[in-house]
Amino acid sequence: MRKKILAANWKMNLSLQEAKELFMKYNSLLPQADNIDYYIFSPSIFLHELRVVKGKLILGAQNFYPEKSGAFTGEISISQLIDAHVNAVLIGHSERRMLFNESDELIKQKVDFSLQNGFNVIFCCGESIEIRDKKEHINFVRNQLEVVFSHIKATDFSKCVIAYEPIWAIGSGRTANEKEIEEMHSAIRNWILKKYDVSTSQNISILYGGSCNGKNAKSIFSCPNVDGGLIGGASLTFESFNEIANKLQV
Ligand code: PEP
Repeated sequence: MRKKILAANWKMNLSLQEAKELFMKYNSLLPQADNIDYYIFSPSIFLHELRVVKGKLILGAQNFYPEKSGAFTGEISISQLIDAHVNAVLIGHSERRMLFNESDELIKQKVDFSLQNGFNVIFCCGESIEIRDKKEHINFVRNQLEVVFSHIKATDFSKCVIAYEPIWAIGSGRTANEKEIEEMHSAIRNWILKKYDVSTSQNISILYGGSCNGKNAKSIFSCPNVDGGLIGGASLTFESFNEIANKLQV
């Protein structure tokens, strides 16, 4: 049975004190179940201060640079993340693709590098509103997967989680509807089936991200191919994240 996953993307928010307090609440108060994992993608500067004390929290980084070390001013290496007890990375988020010009090639290198170093990968994909309006969204997302994972074997791919995040739904208050979400999630699972095999396609968790909150989470999570969520704004308070976590449990 595939894992249910709820991931918090704190982006460039919170003070150190706020992050520590929120993380502590996540650590001790989120509903626990054998088949649920929680990932917390914190700003990197706080990572050393956050310790998983119990339960199923997985500490993740929002960014790193895919080289061992060297003259990469301002960047963070995988071994520095290991020092901070991090074992998950978020790759391909649309904000990094658009605001920081991350190319498919760099994203591919990041996926390769993190898998080689035993990291869990949450890989983000999703189309702009212009692409959806042209009805090219399915092909667009398939291509985002194809260019990055074409050479990845099933055993490595199975260490990845896919997060479908339509760009037009991120931080906009406009969620994709259940039909739109299920259409894309089943297309992604089908892509996995065609490229790999039945068991890989059935075991990969596919998350939805984009203005998910306590009110819409239940209907989003009721889609058969949705295995959880990647949460931005609503992950910044314990109450709103916990509300979503409770919807994932039922
Ligand atoms: C995100 O940025 O990954 C995200 C899903 O943000 P929000 O929940 O705020 O739309």
